[in-house]
Amino acid sequence: MAQIAVMSVDGSVKKIDRDSEEGLQALRKLASLLLKDSLHQEFKGIRLGESVADEDGFHVDSDKDDQQVSADELSALQDALLAKAKDAKVEFVEADLDDALAEVKDDPYSSELIKEAAKDGKVAMYQVGDVKAVADGDIMVYGDAIKHLKLLSVAGAYWKGMSSNPMLQRVYGTVFFSKDALDEDMKKRQEAREHDHRVIGNQLDLFFVDPKVGAGLPYWMPKGATIRRTIERYIIDREVADGYEHVYTPVLMNLDAYKTSGHWEHYRDDMFPPMDMGDGEMLEIRPMNCPSHIQIYKHHIRSYRDLPMRIAELGMMHRYEKSGALSGLQRVREMTLNDGHTFVAVDQIRDEFAKILNLIMDVYKDFDITDYSFRLSLRDPKNKEKYYGNDEMWDESQKLLKAAMDDLNLDYYEAEGEAAFYGPKLDIQTKTALGNDETMSTIQLDFMQPDRFGLSYVGKDGKEHMPVMIHRGIVGTMERFVAYLTEIYKGAFPTWLAPEQVHIIPVSDEKHGDYAKQLADKMKAAQIRVVVDDRNEKMGYKIREAQTQKVPYTLVVGDDEVKDNAVSVRKYGEEAQNSMSQDAFMNEILADIASYSRK
Ligand code: ATP
Ligand code: ZN
Repeated sequence: MAQIAVMSVDGSVKKIDRDSEEGLQALRKLASLLLKDSLHQEFKGIRLGESVADEDGFHVDSDKDDQQVSADELSALQDALLAKAKDAKVEFVEADLDDALAEVKDDPYSSELIKEAAKDGKVAMYQVGDVKAVADGDIMVYGDAIKHLKLLSVAGAYWKGMSSNPMLQRVYGTVFFSKDALDEDMKKRQEAREHDHRVIGNQLDLFFVDPKVGAGLPYWMPKGATIRRTIERYIIDREVADGYEHVYTPVLMNLDAYKTSGHWEHYRDDMFPPMDMGDGEMLEIRPMNCPSHIQIYKHHIRSYRDLPMRIAELGMMHRYEKSGALSGLQRVREMTLNDGHTFVAVDQIRDEFAKILNLIMDVYKDFDITDYSFRLSLRDPKNKEKYYGNDEMWDESQKLLKAAMDDLNLDYYEAEGEAAFYGPKLDIQTKTALGNDETMSTIQLDFMQPDRFGLSYVGKDGKEHMPVMIHRGIVGTMERFVAYLTEIYKGAFPTWLAPEQVHIIPVSDEKHGDYAKQLADKMKAAQIRVVVDDRNEKMGYKIREAQTQKVPYTLVVGDDEVKDNAVSVRKYGEEAQNSMSQDAFMNEILADIASYSRK
């Protein structure tokens, strides 16, 4: 087995197996320092931040006022790096702190990294070419094995990942020992890009987020808004059928409510700071809708006959997510949750839980979501102070959830430390195109808020009892759900969701334009989303564009179609073009829309 020489942070050198995880990591560590050295050479006066090697590849942060690395320059930078690699050799340097700092006196980032790593006035460093960097982890000693390397992209990244710090530029790359491994990785990245909702969202003009206008605050363009509206109508109808009553409640609330609810104590880091109105009133923009729905419950006296009481809302909320965690629509700071709270008596928990879970699974079928798993999110027993309540409450409610899952014969895995601060939950986990696990839907048990807000109902016995609250999100937030659907459908939305369902192309606008417009009017009257492409462009171009926009049905109408009152239909993803009567087509598309995505 091939071996490579690897240096450790104390300067010692050992041989390790090249094709091990450690081997790959050491290779990438060297690649990251060669990238630093290349940046230093290509951009005079550049300041260098962190260099990181990980399972994804490697990256280096840098900062230069007037001359930033652009994507066009990556190829030249890569050539410079590969040229350096050939006879690169890492030297170990144990420098005096003052000397090390003097060498980087114009570079605040390198200085800080050195200061952080210094011990007893000394700092251990690796020297590669002209650049010295803090020794942090094993590094491959000789660069001649670096041949299969690719610089991938540049993006902004805050120094130390904190948005209060300056924004640096991050160059991403990856490297392998063999060409095959690199090719394989490139293929995977390409596939991930093809699924990435941020890329597709841009191509199809669904939404945008502009950090200059507000990081994590998405703008829904008309097409994205159409998809969202369709989902919103759908889910409200499903909930009404399941006994939910929909309400509207304000996004602002007196901070006291969040003190009572426990959010202020346990969830403050995720909340936007309160607004001091100057007259003693403190207003909070809500991170959750629960306290709002509690006000609805409390507004009247409730009896056992009212339970289960199901309150729902497409509730807009704001969470102060870390800027580094924000991602397209998938993780945002303003979101609208398909929220609902069911107030039940203790002996109704199991049935209600099953009812909600069945609703979730039915809805998933309609959207063709098949790749998901159940995560039972439990309290971290080693960190009890993070959570509200006593052992008995937690043991009881965790047991209850497990029993309910067993009743339904569903497999689940347990995750300690993922519970909400007020109770355990069942999370339904899906995977993003980039391979990350994300919570989509959730069902949560809560004994705390009913207690803290003093909720009650009059029981059969005429006495007051406390209800239990079940928080649930069926499709989760509109943002994350649309991001997810965009990825699983690769932008080819099923007809019922597609922002544009039919694209009509008259062969000649002059001769067939009127026919096309009449046909479109008929479809619009049947609530079909249709566009007539009467632009002065070549037909082939228009057809290709309808394909790029992933419109489910493209209709071409010419002399024959006008004569026979017919259409020539091409379905997205199919080559065949079928002629059929207008009526036959209307029947087909209406049946398609009504069937959701069920095959
Ligand atoms: P996460 O662990 O993903 O941050 P959470 O456990 O804090 O989420 P909940 O309070 O359970 O989330 O939120 C309900 C739902 O809201 C989640 O199931 C998820 O679909 C969605 N969601 C939560 N945070 C975000 C966000 N920042 N952007 C988009 N959707 C979100
Ligand atoms: Zn809630």
